[in-house]
This record gives sequence, structure tokens and C-alpha cells, in this order.
Amino acid sequence: ELAVVFARLRADFPIFERMVHGKPLVYLDNGATSQKPHCVIEAEAHYYARLNANVHRGVHRLSQEATDAYEGARDIVQRFVNAAQREEIVFVRGTTEAINLVANSYGVRFKPGDEILITGMEHHSNIVPWQLACERTGAVLRVAPVNDRGELIVEEFARLLGPRTRFVAVTHVSNALGTINPVRELVAMAHECGVPVLVDGAQAVPHIAVDVQALDCDFYAFSGHKLYGPTGIGVLYGKSALLDAMPPWQGGGDMIREVSFAGMTWNDLPYKFEAGTPNIAGAIGLGAAIRYLSDIGFDRVAAHERALLAYATEQAQTIPGLRMIGTARDKAAIVSFVLEDVHAHDVGTILDLEGVAVRTGHHCAMPLMARFGVPATVRASFALYNTQEEVDALFAALHKVREIFHHA
Ligand code: PMP
Repeated sequence: ELAVVFARLRADFPIFERMVHGKPLVYLDNGATSQKPHCVIEAEAHYYARLNANVHRGVHRLSQEATDAYEGARDIVQRFVNAAQREEIVFVRGTTEAINLVANSYGVRFKPGDEILITGMEHHSNIVPWQLACERTGAVLRVAPVNDRGELIVEEFARLLGPRTRFVAVTHVSNALGTINPVRELVAMAHECGVPVLVDGAQAVPHIAVDVQALDCDFYAFSGHKLYGPTGIGVLYGKSALLDAMPPWQGGGDMIREVSFAGMTWNDLPYKFEAGTPNIAGAIGLGAAIRYLSDIGFDRVAAHERALLAYATEQAQTIPGLRMIGTARDKAAIVSFVLEDVHAHDVGTILDLEGVAVRTGHHCAMPLMARFGVPATVRASFALYNTQEEVDALFAALHKVREIFHHA
């Protein structure tokens, strides 16, 4: 009966009205970006059609309405992640920008020999900003390894957490494997050593109810577009005490209180970190996406996606020569695999002709691919609108791939 509910929700997403190569679209690339429901598209269109004005500036009516809508979206995000204060929600361009903000701003205090600890399953956007911070400051990057199932080896993480560790950055859910990390435990371990923790939540927020206070993380980053919201909008949550002590990263309008040629003073949180005209429409669209998801309820979304994951994992065993990469015990609705003797890109190309959209490649996690000795995998990642029939379509297409390469 859950499947029936979700099959009906599918009608909320206009993209499924279109065909691909004459076949119905089977969209299994949700880890890259999700599709958008009508309400999100309409929220953006409504802003441009009826409210369009700059925020935090005008005394005029439109500017006030636009500001109310933009700040209203901040309230929605605050409740969504259960932040203690609305000032702790900073709107940014996406996960990547959120992490760069912290690496640049918090990172000014890193000294030569300081250590930044990450894990072996990070997305490039939670590796490279720290490498750049290391280059600037002389800090050193340390990496906690993953086991053959694609799980973080927590004992190794604990061992690497030492007297020189100044910062920890970990992903909540691996985009390449689906592994869910025990973030709460990792945060507690880091805090024992007095070290703050940033969590990359890009792949977690669409699948798991996140409570930043329960996790006790210091920073939490995510993107709107993987959460049924627009591109170009994302969120950095940060504990106010930390954000308050950090210098601004970008300068411009809105982030200052007073400017003269002798100097300037910074604005309060969160505006200190929101230089320039923000993505007003995007924030409003993100608010609509969160409302949509919250109305359905995470319990139901998680149960539906868990059923799809279990079914896909079972079906994968029917394909000869399929090797699953990432078999974590705690896993989000992502399957990543390779087919013996067939390159992932060839698999992706044939699947596309069947209307099946998957991601093939290194998933911006090249060190993780190296860990498993593969250059690329095929990744199917599920969302609330996916169905069991679509999983069947994926595996029917994979059987076709096998046939083509078997007879070649
Ligand atoms: N971290 C993870 C785990 C991701 O999956 C992604 C997106 N693939 C990012 C960070 C980067 O997100 P964005 O490109 O939206 O900034």
C-alpha cells in the first residue's frame, strides 16, 4: 500500500510525462540530482512573477514581501534540521560552497603541523577544500580508511584522532556507495578531543531525518537540488558560537554593518556569510521542497526507499558477473556495481537507450574508486518517486547488456 501511495506521488513530478529514446523515463540518477515536484517549480515561478525584488534593502512593499518569503524559507530549513536558532542557517550555493566557506573561514586558524581528519569515502568537495586549506596553512590531511564493505573503520578513525587534530570533516552518507556513517558516534569521539566536526549531508538529507542538535555536529552542509529543490541553493548550518568567532569569507553588500574607506564592521549572523544578492528564488523553492517532503513524512519515504534497495540488491544477484561495490550494513538507497568485462560507460550508454538513467564514472570520489581497484562504477540511486517496476526495468536492461557483450 506504500507503493500505491508513492506511485500516486509520482504524478507530482512533471518530468515523468516525457519519454527518452521512445521509452518512459526511468530516472535512477537521484544521487546526482533529484527531479522537482510542481510545487517547487511553481514556488520559484510565483516569486519571479509576483514578488520579485531585492531582499533586506527596500522599504517598498515588494522588497518586504520578498524578504519575508526568503527569511520564511530560512525558518523552514531551521525546523527541517532542528537548528537551535535561525541565525545558524546560512544560505549558500550548495554543499560545495558550504564546505569551502568553512575551510576558508574556520581554516584561517590552522597552523603548520595541525591535522585535518577526513575519511576515505569523501566526495571531492569534502577533500579538495581541505587540501587547499593545507596548502595555505601548512596543515596536514589525514584519512581514516574504509573496509571491504565500504564502511568507515571506526577504530582507525579513533586512532587518527590525535593531539594535533584540529578539524574533522566526514560525509553522512557516501554518494558512491550509499554507506551511512555513525556520525553521532564520530562527533562524540571528536568532541572528546575538543575537535569540531563538519558533516557533509548532501546525500543524507533526502533520505534520513536529520537533527543537528541530536548529532551535535558543529557544521552541517547540504544542497537543495538533491532534496527535490532547485539548483544553486544550499545550506550551511553552523553552531552560532563557532560562526560568530569566524571571519567572513566573501565581502560585499549585505554582509557589512558599516563601511568607510578606513574599514568596516561585519553584520550579524547569518548575513555576515551572505555577501551579495542571494538566490532568493532558490531559497523559496527549497522551502517548498522541504514542505513537500515533510508533508509525506520521512518514515514513509525511508520505508519505501528501503524496500526498493532490498529489491534491487536481491535482483542484482540474478546478473552474472555483477560485483556490488559497497555492501555496508547501514546503507541508503544507492547501489553501485561493476559488470565483469564491460566498462561502466558502455553499461550506461546501453541503459540510456532503454530510457534508464544511471550515473557511471568515479562519482567525484576517485580515492574511493582506487580503494576498490575500479576506475568507475554504475550507480543507481533511488528517490521517493521510483517504483519496483523501474528496478525491474534496470535489471532487464542489464540482462540485455550481458547478452550484447556475451555475443560480441
Ligand atoms: N558531497 C556529496 C556526498 C555529494 O554527493 C555531492 C554531490 N554529488 C556533493 C558533496 C557536492 O554537492 P554540490 O555539487 O551540490 O555542491
